[in-house]
Amino acid sequence: MKYDYDLFVIGAGSGGVRAARMSAGFGARVAIAEERYLGGTCVNVGCIPKKLFVYGSHFCEEFDDAAFYGWNVSSTSFEWDRLRDNKTKEIERLNGVYRGLLSDAGVDIFSERASFLDDHTLQVGQKTISAEYILIATGSWPYIPEFPGSELAISSNEVFYLQELPKRMAVVGGGYIAVEFAGILNGLGVETTLIYRGPLFLRGFDEGIRCFVQNELQKKGVRLLFDTNVQAIRQKADTQTLLLHDETRLEVDKILYATGRIPKTDGLGLQNTQVEIGPNGAVLVDDSYRTTAQNIYALGDVIDRIQLTPVAIAEGMAFSHSVFGSGSRGVEYSSIPTCVFCQPNIGTVGPTEEEARDTFDDLQVFESSFRPLKHTISGREERSLMKLLVDGTTDRVIAAHMVGPEAGEIIQGIAVAITAKATKEDFDRTVAIHPTSAEEFVTMRTRSR
Ligand code: NDP
Repeated sequence: MKYDYDLFVIGAGSGGVRAARMSAGFGARVAIAEERYLGGTCVNVGCIPKKLFVYGSHFCEEFDDAAFYGWNVSSTSFEWDRLRDNKTKEIERLNGVYRGLLSDAGVDIFSERASFLDDHTLQVGQKTISAEYILIATGSWPYIPEFPGSELAISSNEVFYLQELPKRMAVVGGGYIAVEFAGILNGLGVETTLIYRGPLFLRGFDEGIRCFVQNELQKKGVRLLFDTNVQAIRQKADTQTLLLHDETRLEVDKILYATGRIPKTDGLGLQNTQVEIGPNGAVLVDDSYRTTAQNIYALGDVIDRIQLTPVAIAEGMAFSHSVFGSGSRGVEYSSIPTCVFCQPNIGTVGPTEEEARDTFDDLQVFESSFRPLKHTISGREERSLMKLLVDGTTDRVIAAHMVGPEAGEIIQGIAVAITAKATKEDFDRTVAIHPTSAEEFVTMRTRSR
């Protein structure tokens, strides 16, 4: 055979693992290299441990609420080490599951760095390995802007393994990770300040949702500093001081920067290939994930389209189908549902109200805000918000946005209806499940706007 493998995948994260397994299933001889951890960001320092921390942090509210339901909850206390280490045990179990999935599919695993020697040849540890096709699935890495003292800040990579839980923390950024960790830390009893450079966080999400979440987080005790920039960080003994743009100072014990993630291509040896990189560092690909080198493909965070695990998985499957399977199966990039696991969650699918106004002449907005049934007894002030956007011309439901407990679970189902092009009439004739929050989506009859 001309090459050692039909396909060599660099990076065993969500996209790489799916592409490797599926291509092997189509009969390709496949190998994968992973120098860090099987499962990539999602499994190790992303979605999975984050969600476990969200569960962990929410107990504080459950204990308080339980008292109103008749339970005498004796004094509670929290041990960070136990949550952190139990989380790590689960991650290690998942690393093993990923190893098993790849081995069972017949994929050779190299626990080493792979870098290009030329378009078909890789240096993998001490070995030189050739492949007909090579897939770059190296993901992304947290980005922290450079300024005096920025090296003192930690990223999401480190926050999962903190030796001790700080008493006071600042979280810088206004995207997914910042908002999720602000909720986690606050729930675990950390005095939490979120610092965002713009007037309102979660840019890109529906404005009504952003304002609603702002209010909910403040009610829970998260301090929000918007229109605020950090000039420098200084450390004295165990205290870190943030110097803000207006010359005020904020003293904390740890600073988490969550200011985006950049494609990870360093050390890949791309200079030895025909692969080109865009201005933002992303590997350039066409619609079939082919780079500017004919036999090299790339997908997932490293192409910087949408940094979400299910998108990388969908791209991995599309790649395998088109190169080793029965032909191309494109990824549906419009209407990708997503959830921000802040507390309460944001679940969303489809355009924001602001975007939809620009596209649809007759936009109909249905909106409902209410206190969830559970909190009528607990007395908790938390509220939920639900929005449906409808194209009045066709009656099609084009978007659903929600803030509330388990919004991700609810919006996943709504996303199926929207993908299937359901109309408002379809929603209206769907029988409600009572009493739930989700039933609001099929009982909103009166237009709000
Ligand atoms: P995001 O892109 O979501 O947010 C980055 C934030 O950092 C924005 O608020 C941005 O501000 C701000 N920012 C960027 N550069 C600077 C700077 N130089 N100084 C100050 N602020 C800055 O990135 P995250 O790091 O939160 O997460 C990375 C990606 O991971 C997400 O985009 C998402 O795709 C994925 N993710 C998904 C999750 C999920 O599905 N639940 C959970 C966590 C992550 P501005 O808006 O003004 O540009």
